[in-house]
Amino acid sequence: MHFIFRILFSVAIFTTVLSCSQEEPAQHWFRGNTHAHTVICGHADSTPEFVTAWYHERGYNFLILSEHNHFIDPDSVKMPQPLRDDFILIPGEEVSGHKVIHSTAMNIDTLVNWDFNHEHVSEIIQFQVDGAIAANGHTILNHPNYEWAITAADILPVKKLYMFELYNGHPSVRNHGDETHPSTEKMWDELLTKGMKIYGVSSDDAHDFQKIADDESNPGRGWVMVKSQNLTPDAITEAMNHGQFYSSNGVFLKKCGVNNGVYSIEIDEAATMKELLSPDIFGKKVDEKENGFFIEFIGPEGKVLSHSKTMQAKFKIDDSSSYVRAKVTFTRTHKAGGSEEFYAWGQPVFTDERKKDH
Ligand SMILES: [Zn+2]
Ligand SMILES: [Zn+2]
Repeated sequence: MHFIFRILFSVAIFTTVLSCSQEEPAQHWFRGNTHAHTVICGHADSTPEFVTAWYHERGYNFLILSEHNHFIDPDSVKMPQPLRDDFILIPGEEVSGHKVIHSTAMNIDTLVNWDFNHEHVSEIIQFQVDGAIAANGHTILNHPNYEWAITAADILPVKKLYMFELYNGHPSVRNHGDETHPSTEKMWDELLTKGMKIYGVSSDDAHDFQKIADDESNPGRGWVMVKSQNLTPDAITEAMNHGQFYSSNGVFLKKCGVNNGVYSIEIDEAATMKELLSPDIFGKKVDEKENGFFIEFIGPEGKVLSHSKTMQAKFKIDDSSSYVRAKVTFTRTHKAGGSEEFYAWGQPVFTDERKKDH
């Protein structure tokens, strides 16, 4: 074959391969908050309708009205009008049990019982996980550092728990730990290093919609971006329970996922900058440091395997790490001095037996 024809022939084959993969169903990113309260609990300031309209107006795609031990049936909520066709409520409840053990029962079809006490925190968590499954849903274990209620050792023995709140926007939940307690992110690496398959969720836990201030529990501080073909309660819940999402408290990504053993991250700078203009946004205050984006790939024990200051990065996964997760940090000068940080957290990808489906 003439050289030029050989090239054309190769191009033709390559194009065919590409178009085959393009025939796969399109996946979309859907933005959602899994944790919000209403006047029904007695200590939040807005109605289910007001709370729903808040998220609808701001372009979110899904919301869980996760009331304490109360099931808000989405069919009972008067939806904002005109209603966007890419916005849904997912039924849920914040199961709020003994020893300050709280979890979001996601996509349940009935109230989940909270009233079970035990000397071991693990047993209370397990009771809530089993209750959510019995109601055809899944559990997100909430704010482990709130009142220092839950340690990594309490979470580790729990079966069929695949999600926990890595980040919660309530000002008193201590996501970042203190001198004697690890941050939720450190707890996450401990669980992942010790063999648990658990994904990190970011949520608002919003109670206060009428006054915006750092010490109020405001909406718009923590959310997830879920990769799914469809926007339905089942599709979103299943995607999250299988780690098909990233979590954020300010940073948006264009790309976050694994293809052919390569973990790829691409930052969406324009969307991030736009979001960070919002008065609702709530960064982590740190000592003054260099402004800009920073991408890290992290493995067992929280060890940084690779890092870069570019807007996109790739990491080739191999068996030398039992898991790899990604983290993007954006740093800017804080208005009161020092710096503040915002994050996007990509979910762990496993190379050991956890790569099997569950
Ligand atoms: Zn709670
Ligand atoms: Zn809550």
